[in-house]
Amino acid sequence: MKGILLPRLYVDSIAEITADVLKKIGIKGLILDIDNTLVPNHVADADDNVLDWTDAMKAAGFKLCIVSNGARKRVERFNEKLDLFAVHRAMKPAKRAFLKAGMVMGLESRQIAVVGDQIFTDVYGGNRAGMFTILVKPIDCNEGIFVKLKRIFEKRILRELSENQSKGVSEEFSDDTG
Ligand SMILES: [Mg+2]
Repeated sequence: MKGILLPRLYVDSIAEITADVLKKIGIKGLILDIDNTLVPNHVADADDNVLDWTDAMKAAGFKLCIVSNGARKRVERFNEKLDLFAVHRAMKPAKRAFLKAGMVMGLESRQIAVVGDQIFTDVYGGNRAGMFTILVKPIDCNEGIFVKLKRIFEKRILRELSENQSKGVSEEFSDDTG
């Protein structure tokens, strides 16, 4: 049961997610969260870091898609420079938006990695959709009270993750979802 909340990979930032790493594990497409994953909550536009990284991913042949719980206005404005397929008000951790993104990319769930900063929306939803999940350390620490509360539980899970890593987390993952 706990495995469904565990990311398959935990990184400090998207910069650590490289084409080489993804290709080795058979990933062909990425589903991206916006807030605190690509930019801080209060930043409206995609910055050069994001543009360079997404350009590199596209050039390496990956399909990209935004799946955000944010409002239409926020997502459309952020996506102006990126021009990706994007789902707003995705209701993560519901599976629906993830599966829709998979269909648009023309990929199977196992070929897709979900990249996000929250265990209870991005990781939980992505795991339930049968996708590879990558947890990114949140960019901005200036978060609302509800997210702060969730962080307390996330910390507990991450502590267990690091304790379990030597025991083989991926085994636990496939046991729980298989
Ligand atoms: Mg987020």
